[in-house]
Amino acid sequence: MIDLRSDTVTKPTSAMKQAMFDAEVGDDMMREDPTVNRLETMIAEMLGKEAAVFACSGTQSNQMGIRVNCMPGDELLINHTGHIGIFEAGGPAVLSGVTVRQINAAKGMLSVDDLAGQPRVADQHYCRTRLVCLENTTNIAGGFVYPLEQLQQVSGWSRDNDLKMHLDGARFFNAIVAGGYSAADAAACFDTVSICFSKGLGCPMGSVLVGTAEDMHLARRVRKMFGGALRQSGIVAAAAIYALENNVDRLQQDHDNAQLLATRLAAIDGIDARPDATESNLVFFEISAELGTAVQLAAALKERDVRIGPMGGQRMRAATHIDVSKQDVLSTADAVRACVEKGFANQELVGSGPYSK
Ligand SMILES: *Cc1c(COP(=O)(O)O)cnc(C)c1O
Repeated sequence: MIDLRSDTVTKPTSAMKQAMFDAEVGDDMMREDPTVNRLETMIAEMLGKEAAVFACSGTQSNQMGIRVNCMPGDELLINHTGHIGIFEAGGPAVLSGVTVRQINAAKGMLSVDDLAGQPRVADQHYCRTRLVCLENTTNIAGGFVYPLEQLQQVSGWSRDNDLKMHLDGARFFNAIVAGGYSAADAAACFDTVSICFSKGLGCPMGSVLVGTAEDMHLARRVRKMFGGALRQSGIVAAAAIYALENNVDRLQQDHDNAQLLATRLAAIDGIDARPDATESNLVFFEISAELGTAVQLAAALKERDVRIGPMGGQRMRAATHIDVSKQDVLSTADAVRACVEKGFANQELVGSGPYSK
């Protein structure tokens, strides 16, 4: 089975599992897990920040970031496709009393032009605009990578407007590798940064929130409140350390494979794929309506042992990752071509996930 539905389907390699097996552990809630402590120090140093807090999931570390930066009654600004606004179950409202204002942004990347004029005036009628959330790389907007200058411009504008900055860096290292800038330069644009280990980095679970020592002190209490403080979590932190040491540079292979897939798909009649708009490991493409729907193509591909996620209507997303080889990508393109040639409009897919309706 070639599984391109998401970069979350990656499984830990034997070497990663060995690192987990060998991990020294302790009670992390007592700050006595040496492996978690090491991971937090390591990632804070990589990003040039004072401190970090290990979290269970990217949703949790994002929500911790929102809680740290905002008060109930505050508002955050985010691109209309942002995960925080769409795929986190209304978390800002429930966990922080924060409203979400979604702003349409080209390629899902907010610019100063998009944001200018958006903060509400200081008047008792309004909620307080407090936080700008960016996503890098973008997810459903198209896997795009912010240029460093754009991050810096938005960050400077936010500071001038007394707004905090949070980065949803679920695919932070994909952005660093594809964008050609440093983790510290990108992180310098933000008060808090959330990073997932369970996507392209190949870990079974885990995320981290990074920021100032003062903010991370609060984030630790928030994590506890959100039910995310763990005990011998060095078992999973060891996987994250392994990934930082071994799986960052190889992300370029995933990006190369994504480019190859987009190029092969673009050569198929009825498939609209855009190699020039494929900037990281996410390949988005559209199927012409005469052929059938994305859900139907996903069903036909499944019969050929290839999984690709339907994103609603005609749109599909294929994520390349550590468990997908160049050969897998070539086979995937062949499978799509075969489905198109044979026809797939009669197919039905069961249990196809959140994006497919
Ligand atoms: C996957 C993802 C997250 C976090 O998701 P979890 O499933 O909670 O780990 C956050 N933001 C973006 C953009 C993502 O793609």
